[in-house]
Formats: sequence, C-alpha cells, structure tokens
Amino acid sequence: ARSKKNETKSSNYFKQMRKVNRIYRKIANQRLDSLHKKSTEIANQYDIVCVEDLDMKAIGNKGFGNGKATFDNGYGMFLNMLDYKLKERGKYFVKVDKWYPSSQICHCCGSVKKLDLKDRVYTCDCGYTGDRDHNAAINILTEGLRILQSL
Ligand SMILES: [Zn+2]
Repeated sequence: ARSKKNETKSSNYFKQMRKVNRIYRKIANQRLDSLHKKSTEIANQYDIVCVEDLDMKAIGNKGFGNGKATFDNGYGMFLNMLDYKLKERGKYFVKVDKWYPSSQICHCCGSVKKLDLKDRVYTCDCGYTGDRDHNAAINILTEGLRILQSL
C-alpha cells in the first residue's frame, strides 16, 4: 500500500511538472515573439545600432537589482536578433566592449568619475547634469561610431 501511495504521489508530481513546463514554454514563446517584434522594429528604423556587450553571467550572479530578470529576459538573444536583422538589411550593429566605462564618462566634456550603481543622475563639474543611462547611451553611441570608423 505504501509503495502505491508513493507512486501516486510521484505521478502527480510529474503531472505537475509537465504543467509547469507547458506554462513556462508558453511564456517563453510569448517573450520570444516580443523580442522578435522589437528587434525588427529597431532594425527597420535605424541604420546603426550600438550596444554595450554586457557580461550576462556576471549580471546573473552579481545581483544587480534586476540582474536575474535581465538574464532571463534574454538580452543576449535580443542582441543576436538585432545583429542578424540589421546585417540582413545592410545596416550596422556595433558591440562596445563591456569594459568601456560608458556610465563613468561625462559625454559633454569627457571627464571621468566613478558612479555608484544607485546614482541615477550624472552630475559633472562642467555643468552637465543628466540621467545616468541617457549619458551612458550617448557614450556608447560615440564609442560605437568610433569603432565603426576604425574598421
Ligand atoms: Zn562634464
């Protein structure tokens, strides 16, 4: 009787697992779909896209606030889609080295300073103040264009 009970338990467990897997696959497919849509949109709209080549493993493990989510969201997959879709259209996809200090450079005057992860605003002695990510994005674009011209 005992082994029968265990059997039931385990078969329920596997049933449950299959259900979970099915749901997970569904979510993964929806996500894939939205990654495809977004990357196609960007590839149609822009001739050059410069991105930061983030170290996915480091992010996954390091506990950036949203690290795990970024990892799960398939940022790497998204970059691959962007890459081939831009190239398909004869456009450019440039990866900026992950060690390039995009968030530490003032895009106005070029001076460099350390920011904490919690600092959302970049304030520079030159008078520039702006959103951290926006400043970093401009630097990534500038560096990407420099790389592109040196090819
Ligand atoms: Zn500055």
